[in-house]
Amino acid sequence: MYDPVERAEGVGRIIGSEEKRKYYRFRPAPFYGGIATADCVGCCLRCLFCWSWHIVVRPKETGRFYSPEEVAQNLLSIVRRKGFHQVRISGNEPTLHRSHLLRVLQLIPKEIHFILETNGILLGHDRSYARELSRFPNLYVRVSLKGVCAEDFARLTGAKSEGFGLQIKALENLVEEGIDCFPAVMANFSSREEIRKLRHRLREIRPDFYDFEEEELILYPFLLENIQRAGLEWTGGRILE
Ligand code: SF4
Repeated sequence: MYDPVERAEGVGRIIGSEEKRKYYRFRPAPFYGGIATADCVGCCLRCLFCWSWHIVVRPKETGRFYSPEEVAQNLLSIVRRKGFHQVRISGNEPTLHRSHLLRVLQLIPKEIHFILETNGILLGHDRSYARELSRFPNLYVRVSLKGVCAEDFARLTGAKSEGFGLQIKALENLVEEGIDCFPAVMANFSSREEIRKLRHRLREIRPDFYDFEEEELILYPFLLENIQRAGLEWTGGRILE
């Protein structure tokens, strides 16, 4: 079992170089009604169902370094070409390089909606990170919870179960700092009873969190192997041949 905050520091040293950060792709994506997407390299978790598993486990070998200016330029050029109004950083974990992320946010015009998809570990660990993000009114944060309880989190990520508390804390910090945010939950391995308990727990943070988004699990063949090897049972999801 690893500590996800310590891992964030270690991986952060691999994927960051001064203000630059590693990315492996820039693309238009159909999600959210059309969004310019920068796929970053490096994560502090190892989720067994991660669709970008091959990137997560090889941060040294994957991608190249981009400055915040290059990232913003690439995103805005996709926005102009496709007529989009939204950008996001996705792929792996966008929060691992703090100053880089804050600078990219600064460079995106306020009329463009910026969606930050995160596992929330670092936002839960350090409230000042959420405070810094609160400067950006065009920001929306989607916190992806790995399971519905601490035990699920440990089984699904291989990390210490305390990490789940950091994910919940991230939502608390974001709400307290006035940031637009919402939880998405990987609930495909959990019982309805455990899911119900999480709904009640999240409602205490903000009433509408009760209706959190349940993430759809798409089982690519390599993920199926990961999951079967770990002996996990899933209660939903789609299998791709
Ligand atoms: S947090 Fe996201 S990017 Fe990181 S391993 Fe889990 S699913 Fe993959």
